[in-house]
Amino acid sequence: MKKRVCILGSSGSIGVNTLRVISTFRDLFEVDSLTVNSNIDLLEKQIDEFNPKTVVVKNEKKADLLRAKINGRCDVLSGEEGLVELTKNNDYDILVSSLVGFAGLAPTIEGIKRKKRIALANKETLVVAGELIKKLCIKYGTEIIPVDSEHSAIYQCLVGEDVKNIKKLILTASGGPFFERESLDNITVDEALNHPNWKMGNKVTIDSATMMNKGLEVIEAHWLFDLPKDKIDVIVHPQSIIHSMVEFNDRSIKAQLSIPDMKLPIQYALSYPDRYESNFVDNDFPSIGKLTFYEPDKTKFRCLGLAYEVMEHGGTSPCILNAANEIAVDKFLHGKIEFKEIPKIIEHALNNIKNNSEPDLETIFDCDFQTREYVNKVYN
Ligand code: MG
Repeated sequence: MKKRVCILGSSGSIGVNTLRVISTFRDLFEVDSLTVNSNIDLLEKQIDEFNPKTVVVKNEKKADLLRAKINGRCDVLSGEEGLVELTKNNDYDILVSSLVGFAGLAPTIEGIKRKKRIALANKETLVVAGELIKKLCIKYGTEIIPVDSEHSAIYQCLVGEDVKNIKKLILTASGGPFFERESLDNITVDEALNHPNWKMGNKVTIDSATMMNKGLEVIEAHWLFDLPKDKIDVIVHPQSIIHSMVEFNDRSIKAQLSIPDMKLPIQYALSYPDRYESNFVDNDFPSIGKLTFYEPDKTKFRCLGLAYEVMEHGGTSPCILNAANEIAVDKFLHGKIEFKEIPKIIEHALNNIKNNSEPDLETIFDCDFQTREYVNKVYN
């Protein structure tokens, strides 16, 4: 039987790459459902090619436009309620959770409650609600397979291993476009969007440039692999060939390597525990040449330091960090603030919004809302 896949965020870079993987394995997978924010032109092409049962367009007006165009070829739902309705009711086997930011949380929870395999690319889900998600996964017996390349690498290194033998996780970071630049003054949007190794969406590309992406990934790893922050290290590895490593108690290290291509971790999350033959990359070592490693500078890249600090505080502080970061990145992308102001805005929010030490889901939603309002008011 073919596995039915629901993709949250099918017009984004993970969504598009997931569809490429599915089109390579048509006999193994079919598309149950797709969702987009507003890119109905691309969605229409995806409907033609993959014939989903249901699609969700978050933007209501665009949903109406699409309904008129596709003439009943599939169900079209809309709004945030549409996302939750889809994940609650549709008949899928794998939920690819690849929305950007906090928006991914509610629909991912629906998938967890229904014991569906969660291929998780939305790191913010674990950053803001890691403890709750962990409890839900245990309660419902649901498995999360990470799609984030670093976490996929660690997951692969840990197959057959006992967690008690882990000395530490070593997350690799490309360092982004400004790793070698001395000052972070006067950085333009175009410079920040020019990532050396990965082609990704705008939000995650800016997060890579500030190294907040690595900070969010440290928090994500903390929840996924149930390890304290002092067992999670970050090392800058500009070639992005080693996707991450695990050091064991005997000081032996396992790493997972490949030419960077998101289709690999996506395919693994769909095929696990199997591995299917594919040729998305050509791992030619002589052409790679050398692999280098550097200590990250947590003072220059303050966002990475802040992520470690919020892990210490726990509660809603990762949610404050995440919401303030989303707003700050958006303001930078719209030319309203400077690049170097991003960590300052986050730090300001962390210092001024109260941390709730044992939040439930409602508290997390409130905290997200409040933080966005606060940051928008202070930096309008
Ligand atoms: Mg990553």
